[in-house]
Amino acid sequence: MINNRYKESGSWLDRAKKVLASGVSSEFRKYNHPHALFYTHGKGVYLWDVDDNEYLDFTLSQGPLILGHSNQEVLDAVNDYSARGQLFAGQHQQEIELAEWMHRVIPSAELMRFCLDGSEAVQTAIRVARAKTGKVKFIRFEGHYHGWLDNVAWGISAPSPDALGERGHPAVYPWSKGLPPHAQDEFLTLPWNDLELVKATLKDRHQEVAAIITEPMMCNSGCIPPKPGFLQGLRSLCDQYGIALIFDEVITGFRLGLSGAQGLFQVTPDMAIFAKALGSGYPISAIVGKQVWMEEIASGRVIHAGTMNSCNPTVAAALATVRILERDNPYPKMFALGEKLRAGLRQLAEEMGINLLVQGLGPVIHTGFIDRDNVSEFREVLQYDGAKLKLFVSGLHDAGIRVIGRGLWYISSAHEPEHIDEALAKSREVLLRLTQG
Ligand code: PLP
Repeated sequence: MINNRYKESGSWLDRAKKVLASGVSSEFRKYNHPHALFYTHGKGVYLWDVDDNEYLDFTLSQGPLILGHSNQEVLDAVNDYSARGQLFAGQHQQEIELAEWMHRVIPSAELMRFCLDGSEAVQTAIRVARAKTGKVKFIRFEGHYHGWLDNVAWGISAPSPDALGERGHPAVYPWSKGLPPHAQDEFLTLPWNDLELVKATLKDRHQEVAAIITEPMMCNSGCIPPKPGFLQGLRSLCDQYGIALIFDEVITGFRLGLSGAQGLFQVTPDMAIFAKALGSGYPISAIVGKQVWMEEIASGRVIHAGTMNSCNPTVAAALATVRILERDNPYPKMFALGEKLRAGLRQLAEEMGINLLVQGLGPVIHTGFIDRDNVSEFREVLQYDGAKLKLFVSGLHDAGIRVIGRGLWYISSAHEPEHIDEALAKSREVLLRLTQG
């Protein structure tokens, strides 16, 4: 059925499908409402599509746009620096300035390397951990996303909690066809936020484990902060057994604070991955780590390469972004706006007697429908009412409020209190319709 509101996008999608597999360049872009959409431009907190629909944007393009769309200082920095050349197959000044900045601000960033995206930086960290420890497996957690590559495309979706197998027994659930079965031998999957389970697993199997990789706050399935002591517990276990603790800060980096989740929670990992917000929408990521781990790369024992790494536009974008974040310190505002949005949504849910659960921390907000007052791990996330969420998110979208399909909202430095008021007013209308069936 043709939806007139998205008619032009529909035509573009028909055309795109003839040349792009399913009309998109990334799987997640398929799941827009009512189908993949085509956009013309974005400015600040607003985004426009080819049908001239305007959206108040809380997706920040899946997270990168921490300063909002088309930040002029970032665009100018990219243009100025790129005018000298795009890529030298060699080093350049701003790359070092960016690395020095990260070294100063991020606790674990003693040495680093730049890459293009989160997925490859994750793989680099795993390779380093294996090289230094001489062990192969890594522990990862259910519902955490570490990119789409073979050894991490597991355990991030499941039709039901039962499909994840028994709690405490590492279970795997493939996200894609085409994954080599032997990739399962590379990792153990555990429920998150359960330190006792990690302890018990390591007691038996620490000789096999090179690394523990975790999102320091689980943002890819719900938005679940670590239980008090959980990250500290992982830190101690890794120290005890000579295992690398890797924080995947692809989402939390530059969002929970300048120094990421590691600064906020005061736990320093051995290595960490930064991407998304680092580049304000330009493709750059970083694997950072303590000297003793990164020495594997520095010595040449571990190979890390990439033709396009730290090309001029991406580094200029990143350097401008982090300097703006440090100069303007938007975090108190972003945290306050996050709290305002969470409180407002909770109040609406209470007024209407609807089972909307609102979780999150700072500028990350998750909304889902479930009869509980708290969700603390992926097995519980799978019990959310997906059909109701879809109606909520698509209702918001039709009303001009864009949030990530899994109920995730991000706040940028460009958001102001009136934008939260607007989002709450639209949420009220949509929730009211939901309660009226
Ligand atoms: N790690 C986390 C926590 C992510 O959220 C993502 C992407 O959403 C990735 C890794 C993969 O990053 P990229 O999409 O840049 O490859």
